[in-house]
Amino acid sequence: MRAPMRVSADGLPERVTVYEVGPRDGLQNEAVVVPVEVKARFLTRLAEAGLTTIEATSFVHPSWVPQLADAGELLGRLTPAPGVRYPVLVPNERGLDRALEHGVTDIAIFGSATETFARRNLNRGVDESIAMFAPVVERARAAGLRVRAYLSMCFGDPWEGPVPIEQVVRNGARLLDLGCSELSLGDTIGVGTPGHVSALLAAFAGAGVGPERLAVHFHDTYGQALVNTLAALRAGVTVVDASAGGIGGCPYAESATGNLATEDLVWMLSGLGVRTGIDLEALVATSVWLAGELGRPSPSRVVQAMAQKEESDDAPA
Ligand code: MG
Repeated sequence: MRAPMRVSADGLPERVTVYEVGPRDGLQNEAVVVPVEVKARFLTRLAEAGLTTIEATSFVHPSWVPQLADAGELLGRLTPAPGVRYPVLVPNERGLDRALEHGVTDIAIFGSATETFARRNLNRGVDESIAMFAPVVERARAAGLRVRAYLSMCFGDPWEGPVPIEQVVRNGARLLDLGCSELSLGDTIGVGTPGHVSALLAAFAGAGVGPERLAVHFHDTYGQALVNTLAALRAGVTVVDASAGGIGGCPYAESATGNLATEDLVWMLSGLGVRTGIDLEALVATSVWLAGELGRPSPSRVVQAMAQKEESDDAPA
């Protein structure tokens, strides 16, 4: 099969924007550092496959994320495709300075729902990290940039365990209150389940944050990413984060992060008749090519199934 049979279901949006995180969240969590020309080609191929929001790279200090140390060089090589946004991750004002030097139009900041992960990931607690982000968002908006905020550990934290829903809503709302236009709710360790997703989105709505300001970022570590996505769509969310080929975290390593694969998401949405504008065949071909560059097969089930089908089609009868 090259595509699922289309059978729509009630209560879903007509169109979903896929926020592609492979070049940033994916590549920063791969063991292999790919050359800048491969990254540039990856960005081009994603845009050609119909992705319209592609998080390109990160201005986090290279000593934290050596995989993306070539951020400036990559942006220098980028020829933006018409109608495509290329957000860049920015941790602080220095990162914002670099983003502005490179003509970036969209940035993303990254906060945490929990105190422990804030300290581990940002070297400061939740309060201090929000104080760090405040001038970043203010200056970015003054310069006409669009700012997204990520919130990590929304469904569980490896150190703190379950995370109270009220705490997630409170910390998420603080990031939006800085002036961010979108909040992406991250299931960083992939432990969420659909009832939990519905309850969290209902709690945000109860606090005055509707689904039009929210995105979801699910990890497939426990095989729940797609069913969680469906729960979020039913609650009115229309922006879904995914990583081409499911890159970001080797599935055979302990540090597996398991980003939801864009192909798996597009297959489901296509079957449901939800428009994305993405050419699944072109995307699969991109992920097969990138898997060759990374030296390991794509963990995406759809990439595996469609690539295998291609091979058997090519085989002599
Ligand atoms: Mg991720």
